[in-house]
Amino acid sequence: MKLTKLSLVIGTALLAIAGCDDGDDGDNGLTSLIAQTQLEVGDTNCPNGGTQVQSGLDNNTNGTLDADEVLDTSYVCSAGNTSVATAELLTTLNNPWFGAAQNKIAEAKSVWQQVIGTQPRSANGGVVTTKVAGKAKNVILFVGDGMGISTVTAARILEGQMQGGNGEEHMLSFDMMPFAGLAKTYNVDAQTPDSAGTMTAMMSGVKTDVGVIGVDEDIERGDCATVAGNELVTALELAEIAGKSTGLISTARITHATPAATYAKSADRNWEDVSDMPEAAVVAGCEDIAAQLVNFESLLESRYAGLDVDGLEVVMGGGRRHFLPKDAMYNSPDAVSSVEGDRTDGRDLTAEWQANHMDGVYIYDQSGFDAVDTETTAHLFGLFNESHMQYEADRANDVAGEPSLSEMTSKAIQVLDNNEDGFFLMVESGRIDHAHHAGSAYNALTDTIEFAKAVEAALALTNDEETLIIVTADHSHVFTIAGYPKRGNPILGKVVGIGSDEPTTASDGMPYTTLGYTNGRGFRNLGAETNADATYGLDPAAGRQDLGDVDTTSPGFHQEALVPMSSETHAGEDVGIYAQGPGAFLVNGTNEQNMIFHIMNLSGNLAEQANAKL
Ligand SMILES: [Zn+2]
Repeated sequence: MKLTKLSLVIGTALLAIAGCDDGDDGDNGLTSLIAQTQLEVGDTNCPNGGTQVQSGLDNNTNGTLDADEVLDTSYVCSAGNTSVATAELLTTLNNPWFGAAQNKIAEAKSVWQQVIGTQPRSANGGVVTTKVAGKAKNVILFVGDGMGISTVTAARILEGQMQGGNGEEHMLSFDMMPFAGLAKTYNVDAQTPDSAGTMTAMMSGVKTDVGVIGVDEDIERGDCATVAGNELVTALELAEIAGKSTGLISTARITHATPAATYAKSADRNWEDVSDMPEAAVVAGCEDIAAQLVNFESLLESRYAGLDVDGLEVVMGGGRRHFLPKDAMYNSPDAVSSVEGDRTDGRDLTAEWQANHMDGVYIYDQSGFDAVDTETTAHLFGLFNESHMQYEADRANDVAGEPSLSEMTSKAIQVLDNNEDGFFLMVESGRIDHAHHAGSAYNALTDTIEFAKAVEAALALTNDEETLIIVTADHSHVFTIAGYPKRGNPILGKVVGIGSDEPTTASDGMPYTTLGYTNGRGFRNLGAETNADATYGLDPAAGRQDLGDVDTTSPGFHQEALVPMSSETHAGEDVGIYAQGPGAFLVNGTNEQNMIFHIMNLSGNLAEQANAKL
């Protein structure tokens, strides 16, 4: 994808300038030549494309301006997006993904103006775009991990049915946002993506490879040596440099791919702690993801001379095992495993975090969470589980209790909004994805409903005049809504057709459910079990089953799957983007997923504000 000057010179238009035979430069008899070359988006000298103009004398009289005949080179660059045109922080300006997204933003702005019919023109006839830059004081990105369109539709119906309606007419909180579009989720090297590549795209504005965190496609996955020079800057980092408060929340391990892509640079998403890394990577100086989180402030400062930031204000999620030494002495009071920690380097990162944030509060259970004073707490670090937090439907079974995603969202905003310069917050519902992988629609949908409640909590605590909220997914799952069930048929139930009270039967004479999976571990009938992961202890059971006597609406029911796999897979179709607040109108049409960064960056004016601090 890298453009080279050499290839661009080939095939350029040549203009011989007549009447220069006796030019002032005194080169008698030589013709002056001018060569113009169109530059593509992503060019080093013209990030938004443009024209390179080279001039010189045709010394060898071959009628071509050869490379060694060029005396002068100048550029006529296409108008860029001025908010990042000279950004020192965004080294990604030369990346084609980045440049193309910037152009799409400009296009989206002018399309919108045509729609609303204003189409203001500047003195020279150019379209004047609506002022968007910096209108969003606060930016919140909500990511439903694995929340494809079918998941949103089914969750909407389930929530509506739980409230006594037919369900189909119901709207989730983010269904009601005024703007929506689609995101193409593929990674640079993959048709169907993973969370690492997709979240890097959303957070840094460029697509990259599967499995890598905060680095571009020039990385070699798993090779520590290729990280240097390929690191990307994230929207969260720009907000931090700009002086905004910053936070991240996930129901997954806080070192898992999606949250990690907001703060870490790693050649492999699995390097969650030092014990997960190959020896060579440790020796070569790569840091594990948990260590990068705890030392976020000093690592960011070390990358930009003279920078002084105050670190992440709010971090909450699961994943304690990656922060604690592999020694029972360090177990949390509510530890479930005999040895909770995984770290083999003896470091207690929760203690390191506390030392880095003397004014900070570290919490690990519901009572600690409830006790947090959001008006006096400057830094909050919550690790509520050894691994991922519980599924929402299973949360009551947690040993010492843990907050819901909506409770964490409210608490985070109440801490973050103490900064009058605004905040950036990323909220991930990480376990929609895990439930699907386990083949449990029940857990996936109940976690999606809780995710929608978290969005509702954010809407209640913010003002859409100054807060941009974007809700999206990183990728989809092979989860379908099938058959011809009648209106209001229980979404978790068997298909019952219009005018009937009996389940419709398939060609094999057996009933089937509306919801199902193309692949995965398949059918389970675990009754009241609310933890989808219970399926992993059992032999896979793909293919058709007789569901005649099975209550498919029970929490422990896992849908049938066609192709047997140890884990149900992601799917490659587009996902929705929903938006409200300043700049939200830029969310429309079908977009490359990395557009999300550019919309947040423009609306929050993040890069420009960050550059001003350097
Ligand atoms: Zn997944």
